Amino acid sequence: MVNTERITQTFCDLVRIDSIGGKERQMADTIRQKLTALGYSSTEDNAGDTIGGNAGNVIVKIPGNNQAAPLLFMAHMDTVEPGRGKVPIIEGDLIKSDGTTVLGGDDLAGVACILEAINVLKEESISHGDIYAVFTIAEEGGLFGARTLDISVIPAKYAYILDDEGPIGTAAIKAPSYNRLRFIVKGRAAHAGLCPEDGINAIRVAAAAIAELPFMGRIDAGSTCNIGMIQGGRARNIVPDQVIVDGEVRSLENEKLSSLTLQLTDSFKKTVEREGGTVDIEVENTYGGYSVAEDHGIIQLMKKAASRLDIPVNLHATGGGSDTNVINGKGIPAVDISVGMSNVHSTSEQIAISDMVKAARLMVEIIRVHAEDVSCG
Ligand SMILES: [Zn+2]
Repeated sequence: MVNTERITQTFCDLVRIDSIGGKERQMADTIRQKLTALGYSSTEDNAGDTIGGNAGNVIVKIPGNNQAAPLLFMAHMDTVEPGRGKVPIIEGDLIKSDGTTVLGGDDLAGVACILEAINVLKEESISHGDIYAVFTIAEEGGLFGARTLDISVIPAKYAYILDDEGPIGTAAIKAPSYNRLRFIVKGRAAHAGLCPEDGINAIRVAAAAIAELPFMGRIDAGSTCNIGMIQGGRARNIVPDQVIVDGEVRSLENEKLSSLTLQLTDSFKKTVEREGGTVDIEVENTYGGYSVAEDHGIIQLMKKAASRLDIPVNLHATGGGSDTNVINGKGIPAVDISVGMSNVHSTSEQIAISDMVKAARLMVEIIRVHAEDVSCG
């Protein structure tokens, strides 16, 4: 049985550790120690090297005692800012931060659930096929750990990523493809008081180009666009010669993503040139989208397990990206399932202990049902 006290303790232990993206060393060590204590040896890849980080993805295989095809469960070890010095505060069934940082339930709740489920498999000698768990680095801000993960060492049939919000039983079966955009707008520097007419003000040029973009924010039910950051200028008395504008476009449909990106970049370039500047445009498809059919085996398995626990399943499309996008892209059908976190990426983030318990029970049940299906032939 899932142990409420133990999962709460594990979660609180993890929350107290700082693990900002790229700095997951202590988190990785702690998770590996917990796995060792359970009798499983884990490995760590070199994913951190690609981003100058101090830890890699932690990978563990729980050897099966049954012929069921391997399953993969994943959660990310990193948390967003403000995420240093996190203190978990328990109020009844809820765990919150002290209000100065995020809680880090995103995604330490996923990590705690997986560790608890591994505990339960062992304690109850549950029959199961090979189970893989991967704890990734640097999910926030670019899915870096998952992107670097060598999937060839993980022959899983399905992957469940424990990193979604909403009631337990919620699963994201569709997520958008994502283009990162960068516009490097160039003007010409000049003394602002002596000879402004010799300059071309890159800030003004960039401002015009942004203001005239054909869309911003929500474009349709499955597509969004944002300009999120501008940096430029050297001093108050210099006509600025460069501005960097960072933005993004997302869409559930790949073709639409391409056409929206083209419309945005065309419009931007046209305005910049009309205003006398020049622009270099970088577009990077950071990750692809995914769409898993509602009758896919991975959903059928989840539904069967959830119905045994009287948990209603709620399938939805998300506007956010996660490691799930990458794992689908690497060829393993994957869905993002809820662990009950809420108000994530804010200092009012919280999670219910009872939801974490439910999520761990659901994970155990998925493993159990999957193994039984094989035994029944
Ligand atoms: Zn997350």
